Amino acid sequence: MTEVTADRVISKLNELNLHLSPEINYRVETVFPRIEGMFLNREIRKKFQLVQRIEPVLRELLLEHEQVQVVSKGKEKLLHTAMVFTNYRIVCFRMNSKGEPKQAFSFLYYTQIDSLKTTNSWSSRDDLTIALKDGGKLTVSTILKTEREAMLTAFQNAQKVLTEQGFDPSVSQSRENLCGNCLQVVPKDQYQCAACGATFWKPREIVSRYFLFPPWGGFVMKLYLMAAIHLAYLILIMILISISLMRSDYGFPLMIIMVVYIKAAMNMWFIANNGLYQKKFPQRI
Ligand SMILES: [Zn+2]
Repeated sequence: MTEVTADRVISKLNELNLHLSPEINYRVETVFPRIEGMFLNREIRKKFQLVQRIEPVLRELLLEHEQVQVVSKGKEKLLHTAMVFTNYRIVCFRMNSKGEPKQAFSFLYYTQIDSLKTTNSWSSRDDLTIALKDGGKLTVSTILKTEREAMLTAFQNAQKVLTEQGFDPSVSQSRENLCGNCLQVVPKDQYQCAACGATFWKPREIVSRYFLFPPWGGFVMKLYLMAAIHLAYLILIMILISISLMRSDYGFPLMIIMVVYIKAAMNMWFIANNGLYQKKFPQRI
């Protein structure tokens, strides 16, 4: 296979009439690591569509001299998540069902990473596991193999360069949250953006709503698919419990409630703690 170079990627994109934003600095040969092979045009178009949808956010977010090196998407706790590896950091965007970036946005500098491992889905549930310096963890599944390889290379190269340069910005937590309205950092344990005044749900507000009525937690985070799944589970559990109670079997419903509710509550706690979910945005003038 011939080497993937920037010139070859650009001519391939031009051939497919796909044009990246000139305002964003891309390392195209790693953003599009495959340009040869069967059914590749479809794969390239799909990748381009993903990149194009996050370009408006990237234009506002990227720092001076920040270069986009890998763009990928996968699932974090079943939520569609796009990841952008730059020369400084990994930016994460939650995506809605239409594939558009929506709240919540977050990022982590490579200098906040203890270890980054990529594995094959066949051998593990997660394709990407990042251990963070503050004890946090980021696991993402269903990532393409070529992208996993590109991620590992981007991380290793960047970490080496940044260590040499002594680049280590201070942070309030390894995975910093961004305001979904103005894209400024909202420090750890703060639920109001100092820059624009937007307010966000506190994790305990979300989880307590979940405990009162499970779909409510997903609903306030605007994760409607999750809310619908919780509603379906709730109905199913209610039916199972009714059947068990009719048979005077109290142990079984109790066990289901313990296992399902607590497992889902832990997931929700993780999601609510790794991203900010809009409560009230300021009026745009
Ligand atoms: Zn803001």
